[in-house]
Amino acid sequence: MKRSFTFLGTGTSQGIPVIGCDCEVCHAKDPKDTRLRSAGLVTIGNKNIVIDTGPDFRQQMLTQKVKSIEAILFTHEHNDHIIGLDDIRPFYFRQKKDVPVYGLERVLSEVKNRFDYFFKEKPYPGVPRILLNPIKKEDSLSIAGQSIQPIEVRHGQLPILGYRFDNLVYITDAKTISDDQLKKIINCDILILNALHHFKHHSHLNLEEAIEFVNAVNPKKAWFTHMSHMMGKHSNISKSLPSHIQFAYDGLIIDF
Ligand SMILES: [Zn+2]
Ligand SMILES: [Zn+2]
Ligand SMILES: [Zn+2]
Repeated sequence: MKRSFTFLGTGTSQGIPVIGCDCEVCHAKDPKDTRLRSAGLVTIGNKNIVIDTGPDFRQQMLTQKVKSIEAILFTHEHNDHIIGLDDIRPFYFRQKKDVPVYGLERVLSEVKNRFDYFFKEKPYPGVPRILLNPIKKEDSLSIAGQSIQPIEVRHGQLPILGYRFDNLVYITDAKTISDDQLKKIINCDILILNALHHFKHHSHLNLEEAIEFVNAVNPKKAWFTHMSHMMGKHSNISKSLPSHIQFAYDGLIIDF
């Protein structure tokens, strides 16, 4: 069965262009320098699994012409990864069943807080319903026949999840990983990983650290995501990377 990963967005929390910013990246004409908030779409045959529903979720679903969703996997509860969840309404109305969402218990209780109106006994008509599926880093899931393994990484102090889909691993907002979690992804074929910019950051890998992380995992191919405008223009910075590592861009589709 055909399987693909689509980069729905590859930008950090403010997106690129940043509102009101005069830098050369925010004014670049190259479409690869426009980045919506980071999210992914895993397609197995005609089934879709969405990773994160940030503020650009609606635009991302329209651009990719997504017609149905099997499940949503959350990496963590920051707004740039969950706040677009209300826009699952068209899927909920069409599919006529609660949309299954997966994430750490803490993350799902945050989702419940921020979207408390989904859970009212007598909700306002038109509110979407979701089915909360708390998961742990040890769990192994199967959605649409695809096995999925959560991977725990640290986002500063915060434990959050990445996901392994056989030979493809998606990790965003990581700063560190423990040795036992690293073992779960070592030598994978495709590693998608966050790389913020060139400077030190308390909760995100910068470019240098992201390259070290890739070297520790030793994948055949790595793609960077969750980039800041301070990373520089795609065409300029791409030249600085070794051939097996590349900067991803919105709309890029890779088969796995
Ligand atoms: Zn983020
Ligand atoms: Zn800028
Ligand atoms: Zn975050």
